[in-house]
Amino acid sequence: MAYWRKTLNVEYFVSADMKFIQLLLGLCGATGEYACPWCKVNKEGRSDLTRPWDYYHNRSIGRNIEDMLDSNFKKSYGCKHMPLISLHVNHYVPDELHLMLRITDVLLRNLIDDALEMDDDSKMRRIIPINLKKLTELLQSCGVSFHMWHNKAGEIEWTSLSGTEKVKLLNHLPSKLASEDGVIFENSKHSVIKLWEDFYVLYKYVNDTTDSGEVIFEKAKLWLENVLNIGKLCRKGYNLHNFTPYMHCLVYHVPFFASHFGPLKMFSGQGLEKNNDIVKQIHQKKSNKWDSAVSALVTRKRLEFGHTNNLEREKRAYEKSSNWWTNDLKNSRSVKRRLILEEISEADIYNKSSVDFTNMTDHELKLYLKSNGVNTKLRKREKLLSLILSLNV
Ligand SMILES: [Zn+2]
Repeated sequence: MAYWRKTLNVEYFVSADMKFIQLLLGLCGATGEYACPWCKVNKEGRSDLTRPWDYYHNRSIGRNIEDMLDSNFKKSYGCKHMPLISLHVNHYVPDELHLMLRITDVLLRNLIDDALEMDDDSKMRRIIPINLKKLTELLQSCGVSFHMWHNKAGEIEWTSLSGTEKVKLLNHLPSKLASEDGVIFENSKHSVIKLWEDFYVLYKYVNDTTDSGEVIFEKAKLWLENVLNIGKLCRKGYNLHNFTPYMHCLVYHVPFFASHFGPLKMFSGQGLEKNNDIVKQIHQKKSNKWDSAVSALVTRKRLEFGHTNNLEREKRAYEKSSNWWTNDLKNSRSVKRRLILEEISEADIYNKSSVDFTNMTDHELKLYLKSNGVNTKLRKREKLLSLILSLNV
């Protein structure tokens, strides 16, 4: 690239969450047999921690963009479509934010599963189950808005937490879990708390480190071995089959990227996510929703201009200049109401039908409509009567 008579060597990188990288590469989703965007490891091999640190970046097992772009290349190892851009697979860097989010998702789900299992035990012993409630209160006391509820199928669901909220949990939850009785099983309590603490240390470390790939690999591997050790204590959720593509990425791909291209923080998508939050907010609160992209750009530009020129917006005073709210609106509604009632009386539905609608309550009118095969959300009596009229029953 030429810039002011100088030639700059530009190297392109893509940093995104794994789903987006899979889409760009034309691969199957995270639940597929070959879900890893960087190598051809299968579901079962993902949890194998005996390989050397750079094993999955070797030519034999690492993915090759030239092959993937070749139209004669047999679509295998999870390849469904041609890649959208011609960029070497090693230039797709995993996003640290999503790495943290998806791994803490697993840790949080395991805590909830533990509390549920303990509550089931309590029910069997005819003791009031309190562990899930205790866990919810503990999570809320960390300063996050967290709730659980049952969906229509009776399964438990909970609030999806943002990156900042997850960091709050990583900061405060371990000490709170340690000081609380119950919530998690005693035989794995110490190990689970340590897992949360160690993950926060590891997360901050991979974001800033300039250590060699092997050193980073050893630290990540140790943490994942601790996860699997809890599985050996018969705690569900910490077993080999819970080894997600993100966990494999943390141990076998993050060391490669951090040692080759510098700390992972440089490729963080946090700024983009923040931008997404702001644009979403503009769309919901400040846009007339005619052209969302244009109004988001215009609003941001206006804010930026005001900020750089030290301009502050004055709130416009709101005055009720017309008597619209007091008279006009009332009049137009009463006219509408009168017209509907006139229409009803002209139609003379009470005489046509053997049913006396005048004495029916709104609920009864709805039931009547339902019996005639009409389900309605209408609430106003006039509208319900008008609907009955239109049915001509
Ligand atoms: Zn891989």
